Amino acid sequence: MNILVLNCGSSSLKFQIIETDAEKMKKGTDRELAKGLIEKVGSDEAIISIKAPGNADYKVIKPLPDHKVALHCVIDWIQMPTTKLDGISSLKDIHAIGHRTVHGTETFNSSVRITDSVIKELEANVDLAPLHNPANLKGIYAAKEVFGNDIPQVGIFDTAFHATLPKYSFLYGIPLEYYNNYKIRKYGFHGTSHRYIGIRYRQITGKSIEDTNIISLHLGNGASICAIKNGKSIDTTMGFTPLEGLMMGTRSGDIDPTIIEFLMKKEHLSIEEVMNVLNKKSGVLGISGLSNDMRDLDKAIAENNDERSKLALEMYAYKNKKFIGSYLAAMNGADALCFTAGIGENSASIRKDICRNLENLGIEIDDKLNNEMTRGKEGLISTKTSKIKVYVIPTNEEIMLAHDTYNIVSGLEILE
Ligand code: ADP
Repeated sequence: MNILVLNCGSSSLKFQIIETDAEKMKKGTDRELAKGLIEKVGSDEAIISIKAPGNADYKVIKPLPDHKVALHCVIDWIQMPTTKLDGISSLKDIHAIGHRTVHGTETFNSSVRITDSVIKELEANVDLAPLHNPANLKGIYAAKEVFGNDIPQVGIFDTAFHATLPKYSFLYGIPLEYYNNYKIRKYGFHGTSHRYIGIRYRQITGKSIEDTNIISLHLGNGASICAIKNGKSIDTTMGFTPLEGLMMGTRSGDIDPTIIEFLMKKEHLSIEEVMNVLNKKSGVLGISGLSNDMRDLDKAIAENNDERSKLALEMYAYKNKKFIGSYLAAMNGADALCFTAGIGENSASIRKDICRNLENLGIEIDDKLNNEMTRGKEGLISTKTSKIKVYVIPTNEEIMLAHDTYNIVSGLEILE
């Protein structure tokens, strides 16, 4: 089955075409036929970049008013006489579409086939994810218009993996009426990535789902940690929105909420302006005063011994460390830490800083193994004697979208 996987942001559209079936899924022989990114959707200078094995790289800059026109560009590219995709000669050879959808609310605790009632439910709850779900919905509307109703579409939700959080874990200590009336609770995000890490950990170790007791650290520009006990998410650092938890590239993570009122008064800012500071100008960027990208901080430290960059890295490691400790308590111990995403996969020094001085908790990094682990590589980085194993596992959210889409369309259970 050829599956078009779509991930629509407010001004972007990412896609992959993945060939998969039950056999390929089992053997891990799924094929990525094409991969593309359209940036600056809604502008006169949208950038379309597509790569496909056996094809010349495609890069075009042109006006793209909306996601529908952007999706048309993908379709046009697929149908160009110069495009050669194995097993795809016309649009009919695309068999299903999987949509990355950020917020599944409390309704969708698993991936679902997108129907009109699913769309209505997502529309009704846009206020829970005002930054993300409208863009995801645009992708769904566009795909319906462009492909018609014949092709099945599936929604895969970032929140779904965290549907197993117990009530004592997902509720905030505010009047219960706010949960009852407005569904204010921890939802958690990056669920598709954390679920992939759990599945991959089992493939690597041969353990059963009941014996999957790990702490998954998805450290990208956005970052979250997930406590996975007996294969299920029991706690995670992001909350009602992705702002909670770790200090991230530009997000503050946890702060005392009183700071918001204090800042509004001192800086004469509106609530929207303060929220913008916390989401877009804080975290690693706000502390370093330089960049949200760890590579820029490394460079500034190497070249200028930059103090603010050093402080940002110290804080970053410390905040990760504290959550590892609290999740070890919440889980009554774990068998492994699994690092993933841009920072988790690439930065040996940050992995080392996070795990430094955790020997008393049973965590010891092997420097040689750690330093050898660069993007795309997978494996163990802890010492032989480390009680808790430490792995680097490159995430692959797109493959999860393709697998869920295949399984739902084929009437099969999705992988837990
Ligand atoms: P996103 O979170 O936007 O999906 P990624 O998971 O790819 O993106 O993470 C991007 C971040 O990964 C960058 O902002 C940067 O901080 C970090 N990163 C990427 N490569 C490296 C590297 N070689 N060394 C250190 N950090 C890196």
